[in-house]
Amino acid sequence: MDQNHQGNNALQPHVLIFPIPFQGPVNCALKLAELLCLSGIDVTFLNTDHIHRPLLRHTQVLSRFSRYPNFRFQTIPDGVEHEKPVSRDGFMEVMSAVDAVSKPVFREMMISGSLSRNSERPVTVMIPDACFSFAVDVAIETSTPVVCFETISPCCLWTCCLNLPTLIQAGDIPFKENDLDQMVKSVPGTEHILRRRDLASFCRSDNISTPVIELIMKEARAIPRAQGLILNTFQDLDALILTHMQTFCPNIYPIGPLHSLYKARLTASSLPETTFSNSVWKEDGTCLSWLDKHPPKTVVYVSIGSLATMTIEQLLEVWHGVVNSGKPFLWVRRPGSIIGGFDDSRVPSELLERTKEMGCIVDWAPQEEVLAHQAIGAFLTHSGWNSTIESIMEGVPMICWPCFADQQVNSRFVGEVWKMGVDMKDSCDRLIIEKAVRDVMEMSREMFTESANSWANLAKKSITETGSSSMNLDHLIDDIKAMSS
Ligand code: UDP
Repeated sequence: MDQNHQGNNALQPHVLIFPIPFQGPVNCALKLAELLCLSGIDVTFLNTDHIHRPLLRHTQVLSRFSRYPNFRFQTIPDGVEHEKPVSRDGFMEVMSAVDAVSKPVFREMMISGSLSRNSERPVTVMIPDACFSFAVDVAIETSTPVVCFETISPCCLWTCCLNLPTLIQAGDIPFKENDLDQMVKSVPGTEHILRRRDLASFCRSDNISTPVIELIMKEARAIPRAQGLILNTFQDLDALILTHMQTFCPNIYPIGPLHSLYKARLTASSLPETTFSNSVWKEDGTCLSWLDKHPPKTVVYVSIGSLATMTIEQLLEVWHGVVNSGKPFLWVRRPGSIIGGFDDSRVPSELLERTKEMGCIVDWAPQEEVLAHQAIGAFLTHSGWNSTIESIMEGVPMICWPCFADQQVNSRFVGEVWKMGVDMKDSCDRLIIEKAVRDVMEMSREMFTESANSWANLAKKSITETGSSSMNLDHLIDDIKAMSS
């Protein structure tokens, strides 16, 4: 495992965590960082400037990390000026800026050793986001062991990243819009599951020479060159995919649901109680007292995460659909999530009136607490991987409205493999939405609840002391120590 490392003996393990600069991945990486800190490993958390700026105002997160003498933040320029929440359309803009600005600075920092705390404490292991293939190159160049951290779903990583060359070779991509329902037979393990429409959004193009495809190709080549791969899943959920994936990367650490393993370890530690949230944006906790007023499993939670966007027309369809279902709803309307902005003037007054009676709308919610709240009966989600695994952990059935990236694959797995909800992919119609909400919360409630509960039980088992995720985290910690010596 330690082929590249020619370091000194008995170095204090010092991990460099380098997430891609978006809310979800940073949030996840902070949890991993804290878990490593708790085990006595030194951690430098490298954020690019634009994502670090809002975090600096998040005093709860900063004060929690200030409890660890073995933790420090470090930043790296990224050339991204704006501070408003980045949306889906800004993803490649940020990644290109990082490639142009952060990549050369990062290489220089690692080669000169300026990222190390001091000469006695060089970085002994790098944990970059798997999307940062350049970090794997730098790790190899500097003989630093590297373990990639992947925050997208394993089902998407396997089908649309590691198998991207296979998909292209087999002619499954590029494809035309009228071929969307054709089964994808070329990826081992998912031959009977995925249609072309279920492939990641970047596969839905009649051209494979796009910057995103290039980025994913680099990622697919980088992952097998690392010494290991950390995934936010648990063995039982993704057993088939993990077995296949091991042919590409033998050393896999499935340590999810990471947010729950993190809570379990933090609660078991001797540290004083604290908030568990690492959200970069301020959460509006008033929605929790609103939820307290509702009976168990009666409320629909609606959120499209930190990057997805919708048009005003889509907003109105979802809004009508949810209101017409008659179920009370809690809706996160992230500023910037409605394309072209939003004001009430285009909303029928009846919809606004009914929303006052049966809805609660917030800018950003404490999602993990929301999903764990007994009032929540279903999650109308964009199927981001964090949201999906958080919902699985709490046994909340999902109504999936995927938008981009891995979400198309995740929603298919929720509907077809885990049988935990319905996939509304490619439709945004008030009647379909109303039906989906009623289906999950009334007609097929028993069926969805049963499988949701059984996955939740397996998820909970995985984070117990002898559970698979817990033991995989211990292996990771042992391996980091071994790679550091
Ligand atoms: N989230 C949150 N409050 C909200 C909405 C989302 O804290 O109001 C968190 C959520 O718990 C999850 C993350 O933001 O951890 C969203 O990640 P996901 O992978 O689902 O989607 P992305 O935002 O990356 O598209």
